[in-house]
Amino acid sequence: MRQSHLFTKTKKESPKDEEAKNAQLLIRAGYVDKLMAGVYTLLPLGLRVFKKVEAIIREEMEALGAQEIFMPTLQPKERWQTTGRWDGMDNLFRFTSYHSKIDYALGATHEEVVTPLMNDFIFSYKDLPTAVFQIQNKFRDEKRAKSGLLRGREFFMKDLYSFHANEEDMDAYYLKAKDAYARIFERVGLGDITYFTYASGGTFSKYSHEFQTLTDAGEDSIHICDACHIAINEEIIAEQPVCPECGNDKLHTEKAVEVGNIFKLKTKYSSAFGLTYKDAENTAHDVIMGCYGIGLNRLMGIIVEVYHDDSGIMWPESVAPYQVHLVNLHAQSEETSKFADSIYKSLQEAGVAVLYDDRKEAGIGEKLKDSDLVGIPLRAIVSEKNGMQIEVKKRKEKDAHLVSQEQLLSLVTK
Ligand code: ATP
Ligand code: MG
Repeated sequence: MRQSHLFTKTKKESPKDEEAKNAQLLIRAGYVDKLMAGVYTLLPLGLRVFKKVEAIIREEMEALGAQEIFMPTLQPKERWQTTGRWDGMDNLFRFTSYHSKIDYALGATHEEVVTPLMNDFIFSYKDLPTAVFQIQNKFRDEKRAKSGLLRGREFFMKDLYSFHANEEDMDAYYLKAKDAYARIFERVGLGDITYFTYASGGTFSKYSHEFQTLTDAGEDSIHICDACHIAINEEIIAEQPVCPECGNDKLHTEKAVEVGNIFKLKTKYSSAFGLTYKDAENTAHDVIMGCYGIGLNRLMGIIVEVYHDDSGIMWPESVAPYQVHLVNLHAQSEETSKFADSIYKSLQEAGVAVLYDDRKEAGIGEKLKDSDLVGIPLRAIVSEKNGMQIEVKKRKEKDAHLVSQEQLLSLVTK
């Protein structure tokens, strides 16, 4: 992508009302634009990151054998009344249609849609187990939406729902989902600082489990057991003051944000909607369910909270919008531009995703600053001074070195 064609521009300032570091950087660098508190547009660069995150999550969900669907956002009131959440969920967006005066909810989550949906397809034990997932936008009337992408009023979630004939089967799947989650967070660069965390299970399960990533931007407090690399959410520390896995009582407290959540729903929603299956003797039982969520925008926001410095973002390679930022410091020079163009072409031909700063009107300082702000993992500078050599530098490192065009190619295609 030639930067001279990119319609977004970097900004010196983020909006005055934007307090969150993740959103400030993402707005300034041109990844997102703020419509209002908790609602952001994904711009071309932001959408590329989103799609990288999405692809990683999708791959891991498919590896679990889950099948992808896409459920509606616009949902009838009756479904939410069935579960008691029309009145019982304070962050549910509800409204009345102007024409028909019918009440609707905007989906805050999808148990109210997925459970009756599966009722059309699950009849016998032979139809189980099965699992469906979607990557879809959710709406929540969050009281405070001041954490940028960490807490949106409209945001994308990957939600997976699994359906089983008995609890043992759900428990086994739950463990597989837990491992898939660990792989996702590892792949996006958050593995070491993301903790499997015991949290409140509501009324129907002793615990649920969250994946909590350490960051000062987080709103949660977790108590960490270093021996097991697990944590306990502050909300249950009174009833669970020691590590549930090894009994260790020397826990230390950190600020964190919930990046994902896995939950044994058991029969909570199947019994509400009459989702049953018949066993081999033709006796009906409630289907056992599990649900598993990850917030995609939140995940993007967390990555920025974790990977930035004073100059800007430092994307991990797995989610970076482009692999290489090719910067031509002397785009006015015909000779330098010819060289830079040929590098751009050869990288593209090799299948390397390149953002090419070919802007003629931008100064040297501005280009270097923008490159740091945008945060692509590898910067390759072409300039009059360097002749036919290219100065490469990793965004996360200080030292730069000179390479030839061939060396650059083998460096990024290895
Ligand atoms: P929190 O406790 O942070 O409010 P939650 O427990 O309500 O989140 P779930 O209903 O379990 O969240 O949703 C699954 C995942 O969706 C969460 O783990 C989180 O990553 C993401 N998520 C939830 N609410 C938001 C939001 N308002 N904005 C962005 N992502 C969200
Ligand atoms: Mg939670």
